[in-house]
Amino acid sequence: MSDTQSETQSETLNCQTEAKQLLQLMIHSLYSNREIFLRELISNASDAIDKLRFRSIEDASLLGDDAEFRIDISFDKDAGTMTIADNGIGMSRDEVIAHLGTIAKSGTAEFLANLTGDQKSDSQLIGQFGVGFYSAFMVAKEVEVLTQSAAGGDGVRWRSTGEDAYSLDAVEDLPRGTQVILHLQEDALEYAEDARLRHIVTRYSDHIGVPVRMFSTPGYGAPEDEEFVPELEAVNSAQALWTRSRSEVEDEEYKEFYKHVSHDFEDPLSWSHNRVEGKFEYTSLIYLPKRAPFDLYNRELPKGLKLYVQRVFIMDDADQFLPLYLRFVKGVIDSNDLPLNVSREILQQDERVTSIRNAVTKRVLSMLEDMAKKEPEQYQAFWDEFGEVLKEGAGEDFANRAAISKLLRFASTAGDGKNKNVSLEDYLKRKKDDQESIYYICAETFETASRSPHLEIFKDKGVEVLLMFDRIDEWLMSSLTESEGVPFVDVMRGDVALPGEAKPEEDQEDEDAEEHPLVERIQAVIGDKVEGVRPSKRLTGSPACLALSDYGVGVQMRKILEASGQSMPESKPFFEFNAAHPLLHRLDTEVDEDRFAELVELLFDQASLAEGGTLQDPATYVERMNRLLMDLLPATD
Ligand code: ADP
Repeated sequence: MSDTQSETQSETLNCQTEAKQLLQLMIHSLYSNREIFLRELISNASDAIDKLRFRSIEDASLLGDDAEFRIDISFDKDAGTMTIADNGIGMSRDEVIAHLGTIAKSGTAEFLANLTGDQKSDSQLIGQFGVGFYSAFMVAKEVEVLTQSAAGGDGVRWRSTGEDAYSLDAVEDLPRGTQVILHLQEDALEYAEDARLRHIVTRYSDHIGVPVRMFSTPGYGAPEDEEFVPELEAVNSAQALWTRSRSEVEDEEYKEFYKHVSHDFEDPLSWSHNRVEGKFEYTSLIYLPKRAPFDLYNRELPKGLKLYVQRVFIMDDADQFLPLYLRFVKGVIDSNDLPLNVSREILQQDERVTSIRNAVTKRVLSMLEDMAKKEPEQYQAFWDEFGEVLKEGAGEDFANRAAISKLLRFASTAGDGKNKNVSLEDYLKRKKDDQESIYYICAETFETASRSPHLEIFKDKGVEVLLMFDRIDEWLMSSLTESEGVPFVDVMRGDVALPGEAKPEEDQEDEDAEEHPLVERIQAVIGDKVEGVRPSKRLTGSPACLALSDYGVGVQMRKILEASGQSMPESKPFFEFNAAHPLLHRLDTEVDEDRFAELVELLFDQASLAEGGTLQDPATYVERMNRLLMDLLPATD
């Protein structure tokens, strides 16, 4: 991909096509708010300084004689340029290619595939994707980056118009760090202006922990005389936001800080800022995002909090401070007790980390519980985005299962359609007096669940059933057995007892079953496919259904296991028929055994289809259906 002009020591390299596409889209969708380019560039500069500060703990020589970290912003009105210069870690030539050659994110293609063409929803998507360095092209016709790695080696000049290619040159005698020089577009010259820049810095980057400096101007406190010599002065408060006390920090500042740590473009849904004193001292500032990233279900992706030790940045994505099911939480942990040279390996075993993790987990769960109580609509929005991930917690985090159970929301036969907004508390509050179970059904889709024949008797008797149709639900229910002491009962399993009824004893069940003359005849036809045949107590409209045995694997789980190539334990369903249904009456009087068998097979296949299952032999099912149809339709000749 490179077109090297080695004689001139200058190289031209192509940007990836995806990068160009993303760039166009970003310029388009963020145009009305394009001043955020400065926030993004300052954020990168501050990260670069954080990285160097961390490295210099082990190797102080990296700092040379320039140990005062700072970010300087300057502009040249006549040339139409502005510059953001940091004395952070800088980049080597290879790093420049790796980081600036593309809109450096894995999954760009996947992201582009998610775009709809609708500007509003696309700009939300681009928000969660993070805009970063490339946002400079919203205001610049050309971007020039001069950078010198703290590790030594040649300095590098990178230039690009953001279109097709960028060029790279070696440059000597650069100061350590990175200077980003923007050659402003005609309609963006307002950014080469003092008041405008100061305003943007204070608005978006006040919380950055290093001074962001600009040259003083006579209008900014310096005496107005001819001798005036501009000096660099800090424009921001340069105090890391989480180190300030809660009462001093404005909501707007919290929101801007969130964008800095999360690379999200939207505001957070909520946050919690706490200083903990006691056995271990630390500060946590945790945020819940509004929207789930498109790769939320990839459990392997980097996630976690930014870790600082005594204000020094240590690492991004410290995932030891949160359980996996809270991987969407963003924020900062600043510990006073951990050593500065702490590594990921140490974090894994450290009891201080475990204790912080437990506390942060509880904090997030109580934030959510609070939101559910006080701002149910906001909580619902959260649940719709992140509910499925939180369900992983109900299965994985035994210690917090009760707290997580309170946060669960489901669709239900008494709820409003597909909306998952019924809590277990709601359910228990309105259950019947003599009801001793929480009934639920798991299926692959809302339609299959809500129209399942298994629900007929429950609907008739006005007993609420939770409708579960997320991929994870059957797995969830295998670990969630009760809520407030009331057991969960899967209406598709076994011989469900309705409110007021005792669950029948095994022997009694057999006796009942044997009483009906159809049992034996049906058994003779499909006996090899089923665990048993019995008259149903749950059907009121449909002729037949399949019930799972108490430990059988349901359709949803079966499909997941099959897809992952795992072998399936053999588990046959029970065939239940509705003895009161006219079809069964007809069947009872059928004397032709072949025809009887054909009809029973059809009923069996139908029941399996209604469950959302797949037929073992669909061709034979279709043939049987057609034979029946032929019998029904008048002959044409
Ligand atoms: P992000 O910051 O989300 O990783 P960006 O597109 O903003 O994405 O930046 C890409 C990468 O380029 C950064 O992760 C960093 O490695 C590098 N980079 C950007 N700006 C600087 C800078 N001022 N100093 C050193 N490295 C930088």
